[in-house]
Amino acid sequence: MNISKMLSETPTSDLGFGDKQEAKQPSALKVASMTRRRSSAASTCSFSSACYTGSSDEDPVSPREKKQRNTSGFTDFCVKNISSQHSFGRREIEIAEKEMPGILALRKRASDDKPLRNAQIVGCTHINAQTAVLIETLVELGATVRWAACNIYSTQNAVAAALAEAGIPIFAWRGETEEDFWWCLDKCAHSDNWNPNMILDDGGDATHLMWKKYPIIFKGIKGIVEESVTGVHRLYQLVKIGKLTVPAINVNDSVTKARFDNYYNSKDSILDSLKRSTDIMFAGKQVVICGYGDVGKGCAQSLRGQGCVVYVTEIDPICALQASMDGFRVVRLNEIIRQVDIVVTATGNKNVITRDHMDRMKSGCIVCNMGHSNSEIDVNSLHSPELSWLRVRSQVDHIIWPDGRTIILLAEGRLVNLSCSTIPSFVVSVTAAAQALALIELYNAPTGRYKSDVYLLPKKMDEYVASLHLPILDAHLTELTDEQAKYLGLNKAGPFKPNYYRY
Ligand code: NAD
Repeated sequence: MNISKMLSETPTSDLGFGDKQEAKQPSALKVASMTRRRSSAASTCSFSSACYTGSSDEDPVSPREKKQRNTSGFTDFCVKNISSQHSFGRREIEIAEKEMPGILALRKRASDDKPLRNAQIVGCTHINAQTAVLIETLVELGATVRWAACNIYSTQNAVAAALAEAGIPIFAWRGETEEDFWWCLDKCAHSDNWNPNMILDDGGDATHLMWKKYPIIFKGIKGIVEESVTGVHRLYQLVKIGKLTVPAINVNDSVTKARFDNYYNSKDSILDSLKRSTDIMFAGKQVVICGYGDVGKGCAQSLRGQGCVVYVTEIDPICALQASMDGFRVVRLNEIIRQVDIVVTATGNKNVITRDHMDRMKSGCIVCNMGHSNSEIDVNSLHSPELSWLRVRSQVDHIIWPDGRTIILLAEGRLVNLSCSTIPSFVVSVTAAAQALALIELYNAPTGRYKSDVYLLPKKMDEYVASLHLPILDAHLTELTDEQAKYLGLNKAGPFKPNYYRY
């Protein structure tokens, strides 16, 4: 199938691009506050893995001080250690590819057509095996790229080395300083004879840097694809103040992102992260999940599947009713805080677990967060003189009260699955395919199709992303008959649902 043909032949109205998502962001989010909270909060939620693999790089010399070249003599990159790590990283990428059928199918189908020929993409995402598959797909589709990490902790050094060995200008290593972070991103923002015309962002930093520091180059950008909640908020803020001069696609709120990454990823990885960090047996344990959105639903389902007794807290009556009718007890934290063995936050909110709650937890209670930022648990309140902290494992702290009572805090309240486990490649494939299609669409769109605004991924593309992932699951779609299509008023090739449909 010819991807660019499919996209170019599909009228905008059919693609649903007329349906701009309303800016619904809290007014308190000021563009002026576009600062990074990287060291205290994992930057985004969806695209990272493998912090678990840990850093075995003891080399104290900063990568910036090293002269590095790959085996072909290429030097336009900065990674931790190319020579000793690139083969291992390549194996990691190959393993990820096996579970990323959708993005590979897209790569195969569009590689002759090269729909990203001459696209010059500045990328800022987590650097792990899964994003490497996306990056190499974009290159295969004709783009040249320069890539930096969106989070100072989440880079898989071996994967970055493998990308550099493959000749990709990549500037990232695990444990960058804040200053390194901006240096790396700046190295990607432009170079000799290379100025970006597209941005693929996860958290909004690449967009912010280009917009602030390189306004002339920013004017030449054809489109921005943003994947994270945070980055999307920032884009809507730019729209609000009339400063967005480029069209952008919000991949974060596409169905194939929210309903898949948020739900299935959480469902898989909550068990993995708790197990790897604490070796806990789940059966019979009492768990409270704060927030019953997509992430909370995934966590609640999978912990119940392991035999846990699961309680849910919610502020929204609709989600509370869903939780009740799914068979969970909806409670207030105060009702159960003394008895639960595990507390998981998944609200996207702040101070959901306060010091007062933690003062009342039973000894041995595990406390972790699946939400975007580390503000859901009031970790700062635990840094007080009467409490002692004992690091028992990487990402596992025992917080000990004067009477010996101990709570087990995972990843210092940061996203536990990104910090303590890997995430499933299959679900990243879904998001990556959506990102690649969004880039292709913005890059190839005729002038005037998009204004300087934020658009949702059209339903037809969401459906296409899903369809790319069906064969590997041996799922066989039923085709509408002519009579049925007419009866439902649908095109037999989709889209199959109106934009307001909730999956
Ligand atoms: P969502 O908005 O669908 O769900 C959050 C729920 O929390 C809502 O139903 C809301 O009513 C509820 N809530 C808010 N404040 C609350 C409070 N004080 N007490 C109880 N409930 C409260 O969002 P989501 O898609 O489920 O995502 C939740 C968080 O997880 C976000 O921060 C998101 O960025 C992050 N996320 C994490 C991952 C991951 O891999 N860990 C993946 C995707 C998203």
